[in-house]
Parts: sequence; structure tokens; C-alpha cells
Amino acid sequence: MCTSCADLSLGRRMFLGAAAAAGLTALSACGNGDPGAERPTSPSPSPASPTPRPTAPSPTPSETEQTSLEQVEESLDGRSPKQWGLDVTGVVTSFAASGNRAVLTLDACGGPAGSGYDERLIEVLRSTSTPATLFINKRWAQEHRSVTQELVGDPLFEIANHGTRHLPLSVTGRAAYGISGTANLRDAHAEIAQNQDYFRDTYGLELRRFRSGTAHADEVAVEMAQMLGVEVVNFSLNADAGATHSPSEVHAALAAVQPGDICIGHFNQPSSGTADGVASALEAAAERGIEWATLEQALPRP
Ligand SMILES: [Zn+2]
Repeated sequence: MCTSCADLSLGRRMFLGAAAAAGLTALSACGNGDPGAERPTSPSPSPASPTPRPTAPSPTPSETEQTSLEQVEESLDGRSPKQWGLDVTGVVTSFAASGNRAVLTLDACGGPAGSGYDERLIEVLRSTSTPATLFINKRWAQEHRSVTQELVGDPLFEIANHGTRHLPLSVTGRAAYGISGTANLRDAHAEIAQNQDYFRDTYGLELRRFRSGTAHADEVAVEMAQMLGVEVVNFSLNADAGATHSPSEVHAALAAVQPGDICIGHFNQPSSGTADGVASALEAAAERGIEWATLEQALPRP
């Protein structure tokens, strides 16, 4: 079991009403090649052109760049969080569905026990044209540069931020599953911003959504994320219990999906039961008319 990147093992539905219950068992999910060719480049000016060179449009500063650590500290320093867990103020866990829409999110946690790639699971999604939002940790992206490049370039997928070091998002160092959270505002800022910067610099991609390692956060840290233009998203249905479920358990959990659910699984544990369970659950969900979407498609842009 991975101690540095535990994800939760119980469905959030089971947490509701008992979110602060202690003693929850943590289970593991986690255990550059230069992709720069895909980055947008400004057109090359023609040296022979008699007209003034076309100039590249000025890049629009991202929210992350616009909101500096100093601004965050000015607004939030001294605030003491009162909430801690999966469903604190500001965290999105489900949505008001139009029709039969539901969202599948899959995490890649990175780190020593969390850097596998469940290629079969991704192939299941591609072969069934199932959109998904992929939350990727910076360490995983760095370990799988060419794969990340492919995922970034696949319109079936939305890429989201699963943290820089895969830590619970805290402004006080609060722990989840024995894993110490970020120690203060500065560390929490870095946990989000450094992965934002990595994807922006490497892929020209501005990530819009964040889920912390262990999915735990306090409400002050969530407010900070919002200042950075990033929406914190957890889930209403836990499909694979940190990639520990058998295929039949994944099937049972995911086949029960309802419109408006945000489901969580993992694509960093190829020996898990997730791929097989997801494959059969997608068939069952399709028979019930479930229509899968990414968070970007299902939610208003933050
Ligand atoms: Zn994770």
C-alpha cells in the first residue's frame, strides 16, 4: 500500500452525514520528453516582407499568473479553517444534470507506488467514445511525458490538476490518512500553481479544475484555489475505492450511476480491477441511457 498517495476507499455517499468520522481506512491508488511540438507558436515572419512583421498576439495572463501568492496571502492570511474533508464549502461533488448526463473522472496520482499507466482503461474509453476528465499529478505527467502528450491532444478527455506533490490541501498542515497536508497558504498555493505552471509551460494548457491528493481540503485552501481560477472537484460516486476494488465491485458501484453524479476512479494502477469493471459498467450504464460528459461539458466554466 502506498502511504504517500492514499486515496479514499469509501464512496462519498457513505460519507455523507458522517464526513468527519475518524478512522476511515485509506487505500492506495498511487500507490518531458519534450512534447513542445504541440505548443502553439507564433507565425514566422517572412524576412522578405516589406510590410511590418506580424506580431504575435499578447498572451493573456492566466488567472494563476494574475493572482500572485502575495495577493492570496493578503486576502487569506490569518484565516483559520473550520472545515476539513471531502465536501467542504466550495467543493463541487455533483451537478444538476440536464438529461441523463454523468461525469467520469479518473486520477493519476504519481509517486513511487502511483506512477503506473492503465492503458487498457484508456482504450476502453476510446473504443466506447466515453469522455472523461483526467486529473493528473505533476509527478505522473513527468513520468509519462509522451502519454500525457497524447491525452492532452485527445478531444475525448479534459485534463485537470491532481496536485504537484499529491498532498491534502490544507493551510495548517492537517493530515488525511496519515499524510500531512500542505503546511500553510504558501505550500497550498504551490501544490496547485506548480502543476498549473507545468501544464501551461509544457502543453500550453490552462487547467480549470483541481482535486487534491486524498481529495481532502479545508475551505480556506479551497477559497484560495478559486482565487487562482481553479475549481475544486471531488465526487459523489466512488467507483474503485482507490483502485482496490475487484472488477465486479467496480461494476456494482459504477453501474449504479445516476444523472448528476461525478464518479471517481484511477488510471494509474494497471493491475487493478478498474479497467474491467469500468468496461462492463459502461455497457450497463448505456442500457440505462446514461450520457457521459467531461466536467468541462457538464459544469459551467469556473
Ligand atoms: Zn490521487
